[in-house]
Amino acid sequence: SFENVGFIGLGNMGSRMANNLLKAGYKMTVHDVNCNVMKKYSDMGVSTKQTPSEVAEASDVVITMLPSSSHVLNVYNGPDGLLQGGDLLTPQLFIDSSTIDPQTSRKLAVSVSNCILKEKKENWENPVMLDAPVSGGVVAAEAGSLTFMVGGSEDVYLAAKSLLLSMGKNAIFCGGPGNGSVAKICNNLAMAISMLGLSEALALGQSLGITASTLTKIFNSSSARCWSSDSYNPVPGVMQGVPSSRNYSGGFASKLMAKDLNLAAASAEEVGQRCPLTFLAQNMYVS
Ligand code: NAD
Repeated sequence: SFENVGFIGLGNMGSRMANNLLKAGYKMTVHDVNCNVMKKYSDMGVSTKQTPSEVAEASDVVITMLPSSSHVLNVYNGPDGLLQGGDLLTPQLFIDSSTIDPQTSRKLAVSVSNCILKEKKENWENPVMLDAPVSGGVVAAEAGSLTFMVGGSEDVYLAAKSLLLSMGKNAIFCGGPGNGSVAKICNNLAMAISMLGLSEALALGQSLGITASTLTKIFNSSSARCWSSDSYNPVPGVMQGVPSSRNYSGGFASKLMAKDLNLAAASAEEVGQRCPLTFLAQNMYVS
């Protein structure tokens, strides 16, 4: 029942997600701080706005896909931000798909629910928010095969599901506000550490005289099998079509992983959870 979709943050991921929504027939209004990106969309005949608050005025639902927490806070709470019209907002639903820390997702969900709707179309008293970060990268964003990890209320998740599935192949409900962000940073934490473990084992094996290809074959039919070994192998020549086979170009750059590990490390400190491998991995990816 969402017809008018606002989209803010048309970068590597957001532009591909927005394009899939356009293909699915949604009426879109978009905004990005990058003028070149805005021009591309206005040339395509898509409505572009200079500020997030103007996007909000034109939309039933607004999706954000921004670099980090500070950008998201700015777009929601800044001057001319999405929530500027606080006591009379048009959008019923806000979905943030950026990878950010769970605490910020939770604070935003409260700010959104403190606003008032101009006109109620769904059964919600107040505007509502979902945190819905994604797994999959630019290839999956382009193909519309992302996985969404969704935090918020389950009713709202169900109402948003078909919209999310216009951009992805999977949407998984993770529980209350912020739990999508929790799932995302924990997924990437586990992946970062398994990639380091796999790389270390493949390096040691080669030093001891076995080839990386043979060792990978063993791993993939034994207990060391993981996504890093069977789908994203880090040693050149073991697999085709992955960054290691093209001089490590493209793909999920280590600086993006470092960002996600910083979020995991900060979250671990905040709740006082002992996570020694998180800090070790953070040091290795950041340096
Ligand atoms: P990107 O830097 O390519 O795109 C971000 C876009 O936001 C840019 O077009 C930028 O101009 C715009 N922007 C920045 N500040 C803005 C503001 N205040 N108002 C409006 N627009 C603004 O980043 P990306 O690779 O598309 O990633 C977006 C998010 O998705 C990040 O949180 C990232 O961690 C996450 N993510 C990325 C990948 C990936 O493989 N790239 C995979 C999964 C998740």
